[in-house]
Amino acid sequence: MVFRRRYTGLIDQYRDRLPVHDDTRIISLGEGNTPLVRLNNIPKILGKAIDVYVKYEGLNPTGSFKDRGMTMAVTRAVEEGSKAIICASTGNTSASAAAYAARAGITAFVLIPEGKIALGKLAQAMMHGAVVLQIQGNFDKGMQLVKDIGETTPVTIVNSINPFRLQGQKTAAFEIIEELQAAPDYHCLPVGNAGNITAHWIGYTEYYQHGLVNSRPIMLGYQASGSAPFLRGKMVDHPETVATAIRIGHPQSWDKAWNVQKESQGWFDECTDEEILATQKLLAEQEGIFCEPASASSLAGALRDVKQGKIPEGSKIVCTLTGHGLKDPDIAIKQSQEVITVKAELAEVQQAMTAYLK
Ligand SMILES: *Cc1c(COP(=O)(O)O)cnc(C)c1O
Repeated sequence: MVFRRRYTGLIDQYRDRLPVHDDTRIISLGEGNTPLVRLNNIPKILGKAIDVYVKYEGLNPTGSFKDRGMTMAVTRAVEEGSKAIICASTGNTSASAAAYAARAGITAFVLIPEGKIALGKLAQAMMHGAVVLQIQGNFDKGMQLVKDIGETTPVTIVNSINPFRLQGQKTAAFEIIEELQAAPDYHCLPVGNAGNITAHWIGYTEYYQHGLVNSRPIMLGYQASGSAPFLRGKMVDHPETVATAIRIGHPQSWDKAWNVQKESQGWFDECTDEEILATQKLLAEQEGIFCEPASASSLAGALRDVKQGKIPEGSKIVCTLTGHGLKDPDIAIKQSQEVITVKAELAEVQQAMTAYLK
């Protein structure tokens, strides 16, 4: 029997396609190589002949796709002699930065919006020993502060304006092509700063230009209605949504994402908070996959576009599930049925079960 090589993270996996040197010390937690799960039940419920896959990025080491970018950004920061990194974050970037900084033995400063970060993400940043600065303002304000600090202070910014972030994140497109042995017809993503949709397009384009596939997907970006600058055609000053990971009104990759839309002939659309939460629940109950609210917007938008015929039947669709559902336990519990309390007695437990036995 031949054993499979130990997987040691995406930089080792795609070394020749990433900006690292032979002697670079790699800072990795084994990120990447996430499951591409084919949906079985939801297409049936929808009654449409579509092939839908979800790329479950919640199974990265800190529970979101941010790890793909962070392994690159922190690896390069350390190589260049940086002793500290900094980011503004709606939560997942701070969790990832904190973990990779711990791994590298450097300091992470994270700026988060007070009261608007999911509990799991806050726990991660704190647990990994990041210096957590809660600001009385939203993500966009934090991002501006980080840019200002970056100009005067010896810290490396690890938000997606750091080009190494996008280089790491492009590897998700490589994995999808390798598993499907082709590019999908459509790729759907939640859009906040629009770094990830840009990174995926870089990845798809690279394999396309190197002749490894003969097509690229149409890229679809979904925003939350209360936080949808790409739909409004301008920046939004007071973004609001239950999907805190995409509660961003001033996207940092604005021009890049419009280019992706044009080049791929894709589109942006918006989902209401109700649609997002209903799809998060649908995915959890029908397919056994638990993602955070922001992540569900990719599938919510895709399913609506399938229903409306904008995505034709017969299409192969990939939806990125950007983060794990456990990140935001409060939202999950709030929208679920109550637990049943019974006495610790056989008859009572059996009685309570009868209504649910199929
Ligand atoms: C960061 C993040 C997003 C948004 O990605 P962008 O690159 O900012 O568009 C979406 N969902 C989750 C869970 C995230 O952590």
